[in-house]
Amino acid sequence: MKEQLEALKNEALDKINACSSLDALEPLQSELLGKKSKLSEVLKSLKSLSVEEKKTIGQLANQIKKSLADSFQAKKDELSDSFSASGEGFDITLPGKKPVRGALHPVTQLLYQLNDAFRSIGFEVYSPPEISSELFDFDSLNFPDDHPARESMDTYWLRGYEDKIGKERLCLRPHLTGGSVRYMLENKPPFRFVYPGRVYRNESTDAGHERAFYQYEALIVDKEVPFSSGRLLVDTILECVFGKKVKTRMRSGFFPFVEPGFEIDMECQVCAGKGCSVCGRTGWVEMMPGGPPHPNVLRAGGLDPAEWQGFYINIGLDRLVMMKHGIDDIRLLHSGDLRFLSQFA
Ligand SMILES: [Zn+2]
Repeated sequence: MKEQLEALKNEALDKINACSSLDALEPLQSELLGKKSKLSEVLKSLKSLSVEEKKTIGQLANQIKKSLADSFQAKKDELSDSFSASGEGFDITLPGKKPVRGALHPVTQLLYQLNDAFRSIGFEVYSPPEISSELFDFDSLNFPDDHPARESMDTYWLRGYEDKIGKERLCLRPHLTGGSVRYMLENKPPFRFVYPGRVYRNESTDAGHERAFYQYEALIVDKEVPFSSGRLLVDTILECVFGKKVKTRMRSGFFPFVEPGFEIDMECQVCAGKGCSVCGRTGWVEMMPGGPPHPNVLRAGGLDPAEWQGFYINIGLDRLVMMKHGIDDIRLLHSGDLRFLSQFA
């Protein structure tokens, strides 16, 4: 019986080794090791043997079974490897899985673009805190005591600080300009710096207004700052953003922190000046208030107005993004809706 088993083993190994495909190997496994295999037949006939023989033949039969199973596995691995190496069964034309990619928000993209443009002409980028105070955002900026922006209808005052005054009365900054006074107090003139960021206003929202939005402000302070350099700065920014000359108009405007104050409007790029919901049907959008700092503001920043002059510009960053991309509702920008935002990735 031993010889019979050895012969069975050699015959099976020859068959396994001769196998050249996975399709042929599979049926061979049940033929050689299955319940109806010759090996199983031999094992069934062990009953008729003596106890001693049962032991030795049984052991041998199990060893053979195991070595055949190992050979099957080895052959299977070998055939699988050569199958994938040959490229068979692998369709290289099937589309792959795209990795999910994040991207910068369109407001952030423009903010970085402006930072780069300003850095390239020697400006510093400054980040004042978002929680500010009545001192920096109103008193230092020459706001009269009864100015409506001081009241809660416009400014978010921090709970618990309502009864305080000046430096102690804290708020979410309603504009960036207060940050310029901080900078002036911390640095020595002359200055050229920008300070972008989010500001907060307690007002009702519509297509052109949000409660939290972005501004981008720049201030130059030097011994002499001609008015024309401010205008040049504005044109440079708009050209950098839109890649072309943009129609602008200047109007005189009143802002407590500038003297004289002016307002720059640009032609609405959403409707090309025809009138839409963003521009209030006028064809023009208020882009930037600006002008030379009021002497009281320079004084609040620790500078002598007889010695130093300056020029502010304040850009509504969200509006600029809306103009650039033709977006007709500011609320879309802050909705967090990825279907909308992924267009700008
Ligand atoms: Zn328009």
